[in-house]
Amino acid sequence: MGLRLHNTLTRTKQDFVPIDPANVRMYVCGPTVYDFAHIGNARPLIVFDVLFRLLRHIYKPEHVTYVRNITDVDDKINHRAAEEYPHLPLNEAIRAVTEKTEKQFHEDAKALGCLDPTLEPRATEFISRNDQPTDMIRMIARLIERGNAYAAEGHVLFHVPSMPDYGRLSNRTLDDMIAGARVEVAPYKRDPMDFVLWKPSKPGEPAWPSPWSNGRPGWHMECSAMAGALLGETFDIHGGGIDLIFPHHENEIAQSRCAHGTDVMANYWLHNGFLQVEGEKMSKSLGNFVTIRDLLNDWPGEAIRFNMLKSHYRQPMDSTASGLSEATRTLDQWYEIIGDVGPGMLCADAVEALNDDLNTPQVFTVLHQLRDEAIGGPAGAKACLKATAEMLGLLGKTATEWKASSSAQASVDETRVVSFVAARATARKAKNFAEADRIRDELDAMGIALKDAKDPKTGELVTTWEVKR
Ligand code: AMP
Ligand code: ZN
Repeated sequence: MGLRLHNTLTRTKQDFVPIDPANVRMYVCGPTVYDFAHIGNARPLIVFDVLFRLLRHIYKPEHVTYVRNITDVDDKINHRAAEEYPHLPLNEAIRAVTEKTEKQFHEDAKALGCLDPTLEPRATEFISRNDQPTDMIRMIARLIERGNAYAAEGHVLFHVPSMPDYGRLSNRTLDDMIAGARVEVAPYKRDPMDFVLWKPSKPGEPAWPSPWSNGRPGWHMECSAMAGALLGETFDIHGGGIDLIFPHHENEIAQSRCAHGTDVMANYWLHNGFLQVEGEKMSKSLGNFVTIRDLLNDWPGEAIRFNMLKSHYRQPMDSTASGLSEATRTLDQWYEIIGDVGPGMLCADAVEALNDDLNTPQVFTVLHQLRDEAIGGPAGAKACLKATAEMLGLLGKTATEWKASSSAQASVDETRVVSFVAARATARKAKNFAEADRIRDELDAMGIALKDAKDPKTGELVTTWEVKR
């Protein structure tokens, strides 16, 4: 079976036929760089990395172009910059925030075992160069020329009724769209659904000269311009999280198709499901907001990746400490089995599973069978387990490297464990046994076992702990 992918545009699983097999092109919306990426953001990062690996396997690495952008112009960045560096001029503060965050993001992506995308454009590089308009400004001008956009009070807006089949991707009614877009009411809008392509900047805010105002692009425009400039007017795959279908991807499609006069922007639209944490939607107000960095302090990046891929990418998934603990223990076992074995044969059943709309849960079934064959089996069986797991970006280290990184991890954990044990002792002293038990369970899920004993001299309770594996 060849590659089949579920296409949000047609709501069916389709055979994947690239426009040009010698240049397979994929665009995935990347991070807005103003703060540490959260664990939900890790999902598209990992899922589309697996697709990238599969495409490279099928079409050869040199025939695949993967573009993942960096959004480095956005109001959230401006607010963060002013808050964090109030003493710096805003443009310098913005640079400090975006450079720092971009670096953190790259470290996270590497720790999660993601390959570098082929190209990683920054939005600010596609607005104008040497004060000469480039991709974004030219694209907006073309939309005005073609009657799909209009300028008003320094803004440029895309006029939604100018596109008869607007809304095909999200398949929503106009009422749903208006509710979903949290439509902004503005006197210069001709239609409530019209959205911003360009907006004027206030003094001090980042601004680029344009025929309409000194201003900056809207977020949707950034992706349309970068995808068009780097992948062409029509390309193969466009990906992102399910929340981006509307309005972001719908608006990218509207801009790109109307500016280029094409029927489609990308042939296949892929969306990953949402991730929640310990059964709850992740949110700052619930206090369960977890960054990739928080998790990397407690778990190996490879275990986070393993745990993520156990769910099919389109299904919702739950990130739990017990899942991460189990993933870590399984990796311990697999590395123990393969030792420092070299390259081997890839198991065709795993490729078949990935070809079926990235069925990673099925790949794990295959990997467990390969593990059974590799235990005490010939070196070839061990090498096959390793080569097959590498399709998912797993088991890429040697057992020696894994052990070294795990013990480094364990020493990082120690301070955390000690503070948890102290918090539990405090809770017990305050007779808050529910909290004490909760902490013990949390430690248990982290793979830490506690032993309570009375000090024979003082009669005080002393708790010792050990790593379970
Ligand atoms: P954002 O920084 O919100 O633009 O998100 C960057 C990427 O992460 C997008 O592809 C989002 O769809 C995706 N994303 C954000 N939150 C989650 C989540 N909880 N689960 C899965 N994907 C998410
Ligand atoms: Zn985008």
